[in-house]
Amino acid sequence: MSDPIAAFPTEVSGRVAALPWWRKASLSLFNWVDSSDSVRSSDLVETAGRGGDRIAWLRVLPFLALHLGCVAVIWVGVSRTAVLVAVALYLVRMFAVTAFYHRYFAHRTFRTSRTLQFVFAVIGATSVQRGPLWWAAHHRRHHLHADTELDPHSPNLRGFLWSHMGWFMTPEGFRTQWQRIPDLVRYPELRWLDRFDVVAPVGLAVLLYGLGSLLQSTRPELGTSGAQLLVWGFCISTVALFHATVTINSLAHRFGKRRFATRDDSRNNLWLALLTLGEGWHNNHHFYPGSVRQGFHWWEVDLTYYALRLMALCGLVQGLKPVPARVLAQRMR
Ligand SMILES: [Zn+2]
Ligand SMILES: [Zn+2]
Repeated sequence: MSDPIAAFPTEVSGRVAALPWWRKASLSLFNWVDSSDSVRSSDLVETAGRGGDRIAWLRVLPFLALHLGCVAVIWVGVSRTAVLVAVALYLVRMFAVTAFYHRYFAHRTFRTSRTLQFVFAVIGATSVQRGPLWWAAHHRRHHLHADTELDPHSPNLRGFLWSHMGWFMTPEGFRTQWQRIPDLVRYPELRWLDRFDVVAPVGLAVLLYGLGSLLQSTRPELGTSGAQLLVWGFCISTVALFHATVTINSLAHRFGKRRFATRDDSRNNLWLALLTLGEGWHNNHHFYPGSVRQGFHWWEVDLTYYALRLMALCGLVQGLKPVPARVLAQRMR
């Protein structure tokens, strides 16, 4: 059997973009649809101080446009249905990101079937946080080098804004670091989702527009429309979900309490834990990332963990890794 990792470039070949602007622009547009680490995107990566860590504005235009889309609420208005859809999609997708992108794909803290793995990978991919392979690879790098020069998003090194939403907008940030995820690259369906990471979000947007239009004609008393569900269910819900998720990279390395003397600057923060369904117990998590639980004690609210326990009761997930007794016995600060 051939080595699945060998099929992917793990390092930029050193080829530096000496390409004319129109060629770079067309490659950026190409990467809107196909984000593969092909020779095309390698051409765009200008490593080691040659622009690899500079924001590629054209490539991130769709992400910025998503934020602008929220402004359209002025024209589409609001209804109870639209708000309910936005909140439900926030919760379901936050769960997909925290339980699956983070605790399953990045840290392997429980097991599930290949079908459910794919289902939650698709739901997670609608969050505009790219594919599960890209997400897991960068996150593993974060844990390995947290708050050092090699951490992709430390707020202590390049500031709040960079850790919050600058680091992934660069050619270096776009690349999926295949060498960090040898356990995940063997799934072709996950590689596809990673390469065409635009498909899931666009699919959700189309679905919401269709649902809103259907409700407008069949249930006019609800006061919704295709455009309204698109703005609330997709733009507003996704932007809120996105910024809540990345507070763990930015704020959870700045504000909160440190129970464990980890080498990084991670913090435990109740407000961030509530916002992200349990991810705010970030100092706990950096101290012991191998547990499915991030709230280590009953008073540390961790909704993702409770939901996973429920899924385990139904037989949907198995092998939830606990917090070892020696970790719980550590002296509390
Ligand atoms: Zn962290
Ligand atoms: Zn983690």
